Amino acid sequence: MLPHLLFNDAYTKKIEEDIYARTVEKSALGTKVVGIYCAFTPRELIAASGAIPVALCSGSEEPFQAAEAHLPANLCPLIKSSYGHAVADSCPYFHMTDFLLADATCDGKKKMFELLNRIKPLHLLQLPQTASTPESIDYWENELRKVASLLEERTGNPITESNLKSQIKLYNRLRSTTEAVFKLNTGDIPLVYGVEIDSIIGSGGFEVDIENRIFDIEKAIEMIQKRASLSSNNTKPNQQLSFNDNHMINKNSFLENMAKRPKILLTGCPSTNKKVLHLIENLGGVVVAMESCGGLKSAGTLIEETIEPIRALAEGTLKIACACMTPNTKRVDLIGNIIDEYRVDGVVELIWDACHTYNVESFQIQEAVNKTFDRPYIKIKTDYSQNDIGQLETRIEAFLEMLK
Ligand code: SF4
Ligand code: SF4
Repeated sequence: MLPHLLFNDAYTKKIEEDIYARTVEKSALGTKVVGIYCAFTPRELIAASGAIPVALCSGSEEPFQAAEAHLPANLCPLIKSSYGHAVADSCPYFHMTDFLLADATCDGKKKMFELLNRIKPLHLLQLPQTASTPESIDYWENELRKVASLLEERTGNPITESNLKSQIKLYNRLRSTTEAVFKLNTGDIPLVYGVEIDSIIGSGGFEVDIENRIFDIEKAIEMIQKRASLSSNNTKPNQQLSFNDNHMINKNSFLENMAKRPKILLTGCPSTNKKVLHLIENLGGVVVAMESCGGLKSAGTLIEETIEPIRALAEGTLKIACACMTPNTKRVDLIGNIIDEYRVDGVVELIWDACHTYNVESFQIQEAVNKTFDRPYIKIKTDYSQNDIGQLETRIEAFLEMLK
């Protein structure tokens, strides 16, 4: 257990239970629930149609057996896990969904979606493979217009320009608040563990009440700032302070402990399974920033609020620096900016087994991190199982030692 931890699995569980209860309640009253699998799917459109978007990419190895009845065993664990939950009907959120919106991204996901369509109605968004050229934005805008019509038809609710603009504003606030959690780590001494960031922002994919999510995240930011200020030199040694009945910290050693930890940027595949994140911090590092699509890849990308909203969504979502795009030079730029802003000591790239998309791109990432940004880099290729924990511990420990 990390010292002075304020936000842990129990915190996440409580928030998730609350969100789940409210989603069930709304679903029972007739609100449509739409499953999504990718950061390119504009959740604003779903919300503007009065439906609830739920992110269904899974991080558990439990449903692998069910998945492998239909899918190859040597497939990306994220794809197997997401499909396994669907086929085994073991994810309550998937169970609740009325239909699915899925993007044509990597090969494995695209082909899995064909099978998923047998279980639930699924609309495939034909994502362009090139980001941000005028042609790709026009093409994507056209795709989003089709999605808007489909949502109107399935929900029976019109998507007006003004309700879509309101949703864009609201989601931009969620993105900015999410980014503000990361920004707590831009100082010389980081103020929040990566595992805490994950607990605080991790329920962002379940969006029954965005205002409430923003409120919870803002409250978490206040607690983190309070922990840091109580840990400053002005306080008496060994005094115990409580934020609430469950969280006691020893105020004097928190910043001291954080100052000793090498600052890590975690990049690569979505960290749906948390084992690498936990290993880095249990072994003495601190993950100051995550560049994954649930993290700074999308939290740092606001949607333009003043132009026609579907055009704005097309332009804004295509800025996400995902390896499915080719070329994907924006990702190198993003990583460079994060390294500077977060004073990163070393970069860990997480690659899920059989993810060719991120694995092939990792050559360019390593080259840029080592040569352009002059930082150490390590690639961790793994799956969701615990089988390789010993080996990963040895490699990550050696990497962290080198950074010290
Ligand atoms: S990594 Fe790319 S393809 Fe995968 S969920 Fe994120 S944005 Fe979508
Ligand atoms: S981690 Fe890689 S293989 Fe898996 S779904 Fe994402 S892009 Fe596809």
